[in-house]
Amino acid sequence: MIEILSRPFLLHNPIQHYSWGSKNQYAYIPQFLGITPKPGKPYAELWMGAHPTAPTKIDVDGKLMALDELIHRFPEIFLGKNVADRFAKQLPFLFKVLSAAEPLSIQAHPTKRQAELLHKADPVHYPDDNHKPEIAIALDFLTALAGFATYSNIRKTIEKYPEIAQFFGSEALSDIFPGNRLSKKQQVDKIRLLYQTFIHLAQTKTELYQKNVDALAMRLQSKNSKHSVHESLFLKARSKYGNLDVGLFSIFFLRPIHLKAGEALCINPGLPHTYIKGNIIECMANSDNVVRAGLTPKYQDIPTLMTILDYSPYSARIIKPEMIGNEIQYPTFTPEFVISQITFGSASRKFTTGNKIELLLAVEGGGSIRWNNHAKNLTFKKGQSVIIPAAVSDYYIKTDESLSIFKIQIP
Ligand SMILES: [Zn+2]
Repeated sequence: MIEILSRPFLLHNPIQHYSWGSKNQYAYIPQFLGITPKPGKPYAELWMGAHPTAPTKIDVDGKLMALDELIHRFPEIFLGKNVADRFAKQLPFLFKVLSAAEPLSIQAHPTKRQAELLHKADPVHYPDDNHKPEIAIALDFLTALAGFATYSNIRKTIEKYPEIAQFFGSEALSDIFPGNRLSKKQQVDKIRLLYQTFIHLAQTKTELYQKNVDALAMRLQSKNSKHSVHESLFLKARSKYGNLDVGLFSIFFLRPIHLKAGEALCINPGLPHTYIKGNIIECMANSDNVVRAGLTPKYQDIPTLMTILDYSPYSARIIKPEMIGNEIQYPTFTPEFVISQITFGSASRKFTTGNKIELLLAVEGGGSIRWNNHAKNLTFKKGQSVIIPAAVSDYYIKTDESLSIFKIQIP
């Protein structure tokens, strides 16, 4: 068995058809994989990993086997001893291609400790006990909201939209914006107060909320100038989820972000975020724990959200790619994974695994892999992904055209 498994494998990856995924001629994931999309069906995420909800399968001697099961049975062959010991014999990351045609819910992810408690108390809504730090890398572009805006920007926003100001009322606003100079820490405390006040009001004064949401929508619809990211998201979400969704006004407190191809966004625990539109590569710790806060018909856990949110503005980090040789190395910000993009043409390159598992995804071109002085080759092309078990100590990738791959390693 050791002999059979000590080789690179092509992955058979599950697709998630969440409603916000791209469809028909715009469906990015089918294009990427070279398959025909089913009419009207949304293609949201391609999962590469060993999450029990939807594990990748690999072909072992003609039989498709789930990667989580194989790792469980042969942790040292797949993960390597070091990784198996550090991560309780589980693949520590989950890798995705994500295609958003419509906004995802506003969400934040728990810390490891919070996830352990949530999973214990509510395993239906929190399917695992892990945290979910994530990195999003734009394949073409990404429009997102991530992290709270600064205190002064939130004040300007509330001045700009009298409907939001009216909903808060002058008494609440004078508590939040007392007019004197505040330290950075005091400003973060005021952002917390603002959001908690908002959620409390949205849940208790629902008629007033609906009235002001509708008033703002009317005013924006009759406006001649171009809508901002916040405004167009607000209008779209109102027509989709009705006028009671708490996300409708809360989006105005979040910071808009635009990533160009290759740029990345790091999401740490507690950071509120929503991806609005774009096609991205995403890597995260192996978890599916999402605490939602609006723009969704799914389960929303507001009390949990209030306890885990990071209210400090500019916690979202945007990373511009830096080429070192023919490799773009994105920063390591969590122990579960590090991601890089390697591009080269008409060459053969050697890679050493350090006896830790690696995952490759071809995003352009194709090539072949040779390993451990083995006579065989494994060929792969754009859209295909390969797992290199830890038992493979080194391997060569050869290409006659040009090849671009994302590589996930464990630091
Ligand atoms: Zn997320």
